[in-house]
Amino acid sequence: MFKTIPIPILNDNYVWVIIYDNKTVVIDPGSAAEVVDFHQKNNLTISNILITHRHNDHIDGVQELMGKYDPDVFAPYHQSFDFKYTVVKDKDVVSLFNDQLSFEVIHVPGHTLEHVVYHGSKMLFCGDTLFSFGCGRVFEGTLEQMHKSLKKISKIDCLSKVYCTHEYTKNNLRFLSSYFKNDKLYQSNLKKLENIAITVPSLLKDELEFNPFLNSNLDDFKAIRKAKDLF
Ligand SMILES: [Zn+2]
Repeated sequence: MFKTIPIPILNDNYVWVIIYDNKTVVIDPGSAAEVVDFHQKNNLTISNILITHRHNDHIDGVQELMGKYDPDVFAPYHQSFDFKYTVVKDKDVVSLFNDQLSFEVIHVPGHTLEHVVYHGSKMLFCGDTLFSFGCGRVFEGTLEQMHKSLKKISKIDCLSKVYCTHEYTKNNLRFLSSYFKNDKLYQSNLKKLENIAITVPSLLKDELEFNPFLNSNLDDFKAIRKAKDLF
């Protein structure tokens, strides 16, 4: 019913686009040109933009897309946002495509303090909080906060697809392979993805099983996140 497409922008970001009929919902447009191009080529128009957090590579395309398509924008509150938007907070429900699709908002502080993820219809748009075989850097929150936020994510429907915003999978696997002393699981996954350019979305069930950033206790999480920062 819904088609979800990644538009690569910048070095390794994805803008996710959900398509329904000739309308779209665009998540974290860090750049406008590629998104406009995609909509023009496919004769689509943007009805909503969802923002997960305030970093420039997630919002820099918002103003231009608003000027062209006049979509309603949902975002967590941040004083630096200079575009018009509806504030979302934990447990809010966002209704899209005339109620054909709805997402629950989950507040996940850690990468930044305002960061939210959107979940519904087995889709999870998780910004820079969860990556395939990894998680986001902890810039503003504490490691405890980030661990708690990831635990929140681990409780949602495990058959959800994980739409993260960066192509970090192979780098994460290289790190895990070295951290766990050439562990075969990570090496074989790396080999499997060798010739694949777009490795996402992954499945939350697989992340719960294989992603130590998601399934570790607090002490192990702290150790692995610190080690990754230095990798
Ligand atoms: Zn970020």
